Amino acid sequence: MATLTLEHLTKEFGGGSDRIVAVDDVSLDIADGEFLVLVGPSGCGKSTTLRMIAGLETTSEGEIRFGERRINDREAKNRDIAMVFQSYALYPHMTVRENMSFGLEESTDLGDDEITRRVEDAATTMGIGDLIDRKPGELSGGQQQRVALGRAIVRDPSVFLLDEPLSNLDAKLRSQMRTELQRIQENLGVTTVYVTHDQTEAMTMGDRIAILDGGRLQQVGTPLECYHEPANQFVAGFIGEPSMNFFETTVEDGRLIADEFEYPLSEPTREAVGDTDRVTLGVRPEDIALVDAAESDHDFRTVVDVVEPVGSGNNVYLAFEGRENERSEFDMEESRTFVATVGGLRRVEAGQPAIARFPEDAIHLFDAGTGEALRNRTLDDIETVEPQL
Ligand code: ATP
Repeated sequence: MATLTLEHLTKEFGGGSDRIVAVDDVSLDIADGEFLVLVGPSGCGKSTTLRMIAGLETTSEGEIRFGERRINDREAKNRDIAMVFQSYALYPHMTVRENMSFGLEESTDLGDDEITRRVEDAATTMGIGDLIDRKPGELSGGQQQRVALGRAIVRDPSVFLLDEPLSNLDAKLRSQMRTELQRIQENLGVTTVYVTHDQTEAMTMGDRIAILDGGRLQQVGTPLECYHEPANQFVAGFIGEPSMNFFETTVEDGRLIADEFEYPLSEPTREAVGDTDRVTLGVRPEDIALVDAAESDHDFRTVVDVVEPVGSGNNVYLAFEGRENERSEFDMEESRTFVATVGGLRRVEAGQPAIARFPEDAIHLFDAGTGEALRNRTLDDIETVEPQL
């Protein structure tokens, strides 16, 4: 078991005009037994960070520590780490048992009985106990990935490093394995760093998530902190599906002025905006209500452009109607759309008018220049489920 600390970790590739800073001054403390998900778009530096922790890549600057021990200069095989990749990389001519025991036979002096016990325990944990004498070619993709994970578990490492281990699986199996992996990690209590570009995986699996963009750490927090209290516009747009809607506005006399609408701000929100004169307004699709009548100046007349039913809900793409007296004839092509989610049983048809409400307690505001969050939604109305026993 170990805490894992990254301090000012930096990795540069190439030199001169080819120089790339793949990981840029990343500092992170990962607690003993924690499941930390490193998430971000392709090329943001996730795999490079993981490979530096594993010792497969040197560091340009910064320090990696397990507990108090600096491990930068320790060889990969001496770091007490087990890594699982997207590709299972099983030996095709070996059985499941042989695949799982091979590493232990090669790199430890454990006795045969202990190796057998560990392999059988790990196979049971991974639910592949009855497949132990089969070869990889006789297994499904999901079963092969279980073997790869089992092979990591038998090593009983201080730290697990997982690099997109579920991305070769189909959607249903992936969601099943997500839950299973979480359960297994919790039972084993091994400090784990899990890399993915999939924000759903990050949200559902991590104790905390660390979001990277362009090699730089954008935010570290619990999934719900990152969702409700994003540090900046990048995090707000990356976490959540469908993504948060953004509108460019200028601030005039306590109002946000966009091409399509004006949004008056209350006094506390004005204070949060301060002197910033260009502000991006963000609203999550589930926070936009479609209401029967326009009752406040946070309600806007729109037209339904497209409806995407997803079963439990509908993603409703809406276009603003022109501001009165300014556009005589409404032109859907000219108006930008935004998305609201409504319940699956609500009937909404393309072409119909709708009034969209952006409640002020649910809006996010970002400095349009820096992207930094000026104001996040208020969380007073979050309910706790307390069963009456
Ligand atoms: P993906 O999700 O696509 O795997 P990632 O977030 O894991 O992306 P990295 O693989 O860490 O990203 O790459 C970060 C940046 O470093 C990219 O711009 C990549 O092109 C660059 N890079 C990675 N490895 C090398 C290398 N060996 N030489 C030069 N540049 C590299």
